[in-house]
Amino acid sequence: MKKREKEEKREKTQKREEIQKVTFNIDKEKDFSKWFSEIVEKAELADLRYNVKGFVVFRPWAVLAMEKMYDLLEQDLQNKNHQPAWFPALIPEKNFRLEAEHIKGFTPQVFWVTNAANKKLKEKLAMRPTSETAMYQLYSIWIRSYKDLPFKMYQRAQVWRYETKATRPFIRSREFYWIEGHNCFATKEEAESQVFEDVDTTKNLMYNKLCIPFLPLRRPAWDKFPGAVYSIGSDTLMPDGKVIQQPSTHFLGQGFAKVFEIIFKGRDGKEKYVWQTCYGPAISRIFASVIAIHGDNSGLVLPFCIAPIQLIIVPIYSNKNKKEIFKKCQEIEKKLKEQDIRIKFDSRNFSPGEKYYFWEMKGIPFRIEIGEKEIRTKKLTFFKRDIKEKIQVNEEKILNEVIKEGKEFDDRLKKKADFWLKKQIVECKNKEELKKAFQDKKIGRCGFCSIDKEGEKCAEVIEKRFLASIRGTMYNKKEKVQGKCVICGKPAKYMVYIAKSY
Ligand SMILES: [Zn+2]
Repeated sequence: MKKREKEEKREKTQKREEIQKVTFNIDKEKDFSKWFSEIVEKAELADLRYNVKGFVVFRPWAVLAMEKMYDLLEQDLQNKNHQPAWFPALIPEKNFRLEAEHIKGFTPQVFWVTNAANKKLKEKLAMRPTSETAMYQLYSIWIRSYKDLPFKMYQRAQVWRYETKATRPFIRSREFYWIEGHNCFATKEEAESQVFEDVDTTKNLMYNKLCIPFLPLRRPAWDKFPGAVYSIGSDTLMPDGKVIQQPSTHFLGQGFAKVFEIIFKGRDGKEKYVWQTCYGPAISRIFASVIAIHGDNSGLVLPFCIAPIQLIIVPIYSNKNKKEIFKKCQEIEKKLKEQDIRIKFDSRNFSPGEKYYFWEMKGIPFRIEIGEKEIRTKKLTFFKRDIKEKIQVNEEKILNEVIKEGKEFDDRLKKKADFWLKKQIVECKNKEELKKAFQDKKIGRCGFCSIDKEGEKCAEVIEKRFLASIRGTMYNKKEKVQGKCVICGKPAKYMVYIAKSY
């Protein structure tokens, strides 16, 4: 082969490799697990090569999106009169041991700090797995009278849990990023209505903003938060048929108030214990649902409201017209940036095709293509990532179009996710139907004997036979109960949702 031909061939192979590097093409339906690992790596969301097991490095593309999620959530919490605080990461062992159920539930998961420099500590310190026992000690000092109530506080923080189940980036790791809200009230009724408000906060973020439908379920008695009277978890379904618990909210009653002595003087002058709730949305975990539910076989699809870049400009040029086309691209970039659109002009020396693949894989909602034709007609080619459709947009009206299209983009994601989740919930009257539901990657809705202690036996059968669990009952509506318990055959008292889970 002549030297020139060889060189050309090498160049071609290199180019193909470049394109393969940015092309994402794994079937999400067929192999979700592989799809998920691949997108985490290709889109540079996290790096698993950090040398502490179960600990993950979160990379800029993911962090930028999760920062937006934090902003949205904190704004909503502050609108609802929660105040932010930052508490220490370490909790003295004696605080941690105060509430009996709480210790029992969390002890197997705690990382302990036992040494400082070369000395053994007199009292070992827990790295917070959750902060009830850090915050409530101070609450008992801060809260004095009914005038201090309601007392609503949250912190954004990392927490550490020594998970023994297999870890996956975003889905489950030994360190994760969340917000925890901890509230005190004068009455039981106020505290219980806070639980409803928390579910509303979950809906505002998860559904209204991130376009992810979820099932708010009151957990059965055997599956509540350690130390809570009852818990409501929000389950989303992953494409492999397993649900993942998203924000949960807990009615704590007065259990913690009694051991931490959070006492207030009422209007009647009498001293009383506060009623408490807590709430825990995990941002890194919610991002797992964003990746899994909206992504497709070309890669990520990020909702317009959290995409680090909402719009990418790709120039189509030759050496002859490069200057003119770049100028137009920069002009559009500047104009939209000034209006707070997160936009980027990709002037790198790659072919347009390579850039298309790359940014589609990264999940950017829109792309504008600008070439000679666009300059001549003053109409920009506008590509929508989710439905892969191209339209022509009047250059002068571009700002309004982007805002309008952004809203429609998120609406489409929501509609698609809604449709899918609805389809995945099936009625099951017996074990065979339940078995089939799990084979089809679905959630079963069944009659069940009890979600109090006495139902636990039937739940164990489900656990053993199907490796699935009772996720709970719809928290806010009384669903019509019919038929018999899917396991024991006694008359059903509840309609429950049963699923495999992460
Ligand atoms: Zn039963």
